[in-house]
Amino acid sequence: MEFMVCIKQVPDSMTIDINPETGSLIRESAGAKINPYDLSAIEAALQVREKTGGNIHALTMGPKQARFAIREALALEIDNGWIVTDKSFAGSDVLATAYTLSQAILNITEPDIIFCGKQSTDGDTAQVGPEIAELLGIPHASYVTEINHVDKDYIIVTCNMGTYKEVLRLSTPCLVCIEMEAYTPRISSLRNKISSQNKAINELSIGNLKDKDKDNYGYKGSPTKVRKIYVPKVKRESKIIDGDVDKIIDELIEKLNEWGCLNE
Ligand SMILES: Cc1cc2nc3c(=O)[nH]c(=O)nc-3n(C[C@H](O)[C@H](O)[C@H](O)COP(=O)(O)OP(=O)(O)OC[C@H]3O[C@@H](n4cnc5c(N)ncnc54)[C@H](O)[C@@H]3O)c2cc1C
Repeated sequence: MEFMVCIKQVPDSMTIDINPETGSLIRESAGAKINPYDLSAIEAALQVREKTGGNIHALTMGPKQARFAIREALALEIDNGWIVTDKSFAGSDVLATAYTLSQAILNITEPDIIFCGKQSTDGDTAQVGPEIAELLGIPHASYVTEINHVDKDYIIVTCNMGTYKEVLRLSTPCLVCIEMEAYTPRISSLRNKISSQNKAINELSIGNLKDKDKDNYGYKGSPTKVRKIYVPKVKRESKIIDGDVDKIIDELIEKLNEWGCLNE
């Protein structure tokens, strides 16, 4: 069977500088790592391959530095690494990102199962996986905590829906978004780390994709318009209210109103 794991490189820090003029993130200011949710997606794919055999491809979209994330995936014994990178992809919102990834997947293989993390730790939207599935016209499941059954025609998964669990049967090809706690990522061995250094990473650009129209990618292909981006200022103010209970309550309500805490 053929498997695809989409992995994103994310900042390795909660604090990331923002260019005050352009409002864009200065990603180099925070180091980089594989999105932790995607490590669980990789682990899920590895466990499925152990049962069914087959090939796992790892795919990332990003600048050339994102090869680092693919290199790490190769050290975890992923079979083939892919990066889709092009200047035309700059400024991609969620839809344009999902579109680019779906175009890249069509170029690479016909995967039986596509694995995504549930969400990223930076953008956090949890939309890319389901959007890839919609763009490819295949079924998908989110919040997947367990892959109970896999064969060539269908899979059965358990999803954590918060207050209840859902067991779904999806015909293949399909896409699953894996919960972080569901599959504990294994650690790559030193031997695999070293041998992965020599493995080739395949590179795709817009010229390799079926749709080569630049208007469908990057800024032009992104319907989201960001008006402003900034680091919120954390304001703390404390007040001690003395006096008898009625006075304390009146003053407390007055203060809470003044601070906007009681607004509907
Ligand atoms: C107007 C606008 C402009 C933007 N411009 C840029 C920009 O220039 N450069 C930039 O880096 N970001 C940019 N972004 C952010 C970018 O859109 C998101 O990083 C991207 O869409 C992923 O969204 P997310 O982080 O919410 O992923 P989620 O939907 O939370 O991720 C879910 C899963 O999808 C998969 N996935 C997500 N992203 C990728 C990826 N890149 N490669 C492989 N798999 C992936 C992973 O499996 C991940 O676990 C921009 C966003 C907006 C709104």
